[in-house]
Amino acid sequence: MDKVGETTLQIDLAALEHNFKFLKSRLDPETKFLSVVKAFAYGSDMVTIAKKMESLGTDYFAVAYANEGVLLRNAGITLPILILHPLPINFEALIDFNLEPSLYSPKILKLFLEKAEERQQKDYPVHIKFNTGLNRLGFWENDVDYIINHLREQNALKVISVFSHLAASEDVAERSFSLQQIATFKKTSEALNQKLGYKPFRHMLNTSGIINYPEAQFEMVRSGIGLYGYGNAKAIDAKLKPVAQLKTIISQLHKIEPNESVGYNRAYKSEGYRITATLPLGHADGIGRQYGNKKGHVFIHGKKAPIIGNVCMDMIMVDVTDIACKEGDEVLVFGLHQSAEEFANTADTISYEILTAISHRVKRVIINS
Ligand SMILES: *Cc1c(COP(=O)(O)O)cnc(C)c1O
Repeated sequence: MDKVGETTLQIDLAALEHNFKFLKSRLDPETKFLSVVKAFAYGSDMVTIAKKMESLGTDYFAVAYANEGVLLRNAGITLPILILHPLPINFEALIDFNLEPSLYSPKILKLFLEKAEERQQKDYPVHIKFNTGLNRLGFWENDVDYIINHLREQNALKVISVFSHLAASEDVAERSFSLQQIATFKKTSEALNQKLGYKPFRHMLNTSGIINYPEAQFEMVRSGIGLYGYGNAKAIDAKLKPVAQLKTIISQLHKIEPNESVGYNRAYKSEGYRITATLPLGHADGIGRQYGNKKGHVFIHGKKAPIIGNVCMDMIMVDVTDIACKEGDEVLVFGLHQSAEEFANTADTISYEILTAISHRVKRVIINS
């Protein structure tokens, strides 16, 4: 592999394809597949990932906010795009860019209906979101009559799908809670569909839902983290391939004498002779201060180099005393020798957070391994 030369996030489209095929193999062939590309496709490259997923045959996209959907439309994406968390200020843009809102509360339904009527829309596609226990966004079970009363005798809006979201799909200890959510969703969506007089499709499962509750795939599933190579379980991670690899290089080596300090606030104090490497990567690139002071480590020539001292805005220092290395050598932060999940776990967080934290200052390079 070519030397990276600077801090680089490699995005592997072959890995994306592998992960998509693995997830599809867990589903009935007729189940539709929504690719979640919010937060710049989990910190990678939203447009590149969306174009690849379109070519691989995904059925739908979802992003969190309207502006993310606008970016996709401006890049030429034509598949339907579900906006998971629209806000009233975005309603004009939704209609301008043919983006499909999740309607999650009486207020949002009423305001979006008014906007669609004002804009003289007919059968504008919307999605009804039910809260079944996550208690984050969504109508409650007893809102069905409110929804029906507002959607009856109008033709500005058409309900394309009904959906919900599991609170603990990755957590086997919460199995009975998840099954309860699925049962509630089944009941509520049936009640809604019956009263609507037509049949919107249904979806509930995220990546861990696909793995743990395939019986609840309904007509579509929504996967994010699995596409990017993580399954919230070691056995699944082993079958997936990380799409993003974060690499950097050694900028400078320092010989540290005993009783010297390294970095801001003199947070690291040397006991003996040490050799440190300074890397062009800091908290402004997404490596938070919680990775400092020997919590996190990187790999150089396949060996662990702990992060010492405080993480700076643009740099970290690592201990390379026991590693034969020189300035310009390649450093792996996450990807091959340690996964993003393993790296994240060193700082008590999860793959989702470290992946989406990698800032736009870091160069993205697309590969097809
Ligand atoms: C982010 C999100 C997903 C994707 O979840 P993964 O665990 O990444 O597969 C699915 N549904 C909703 C509502 C989400 O917000």
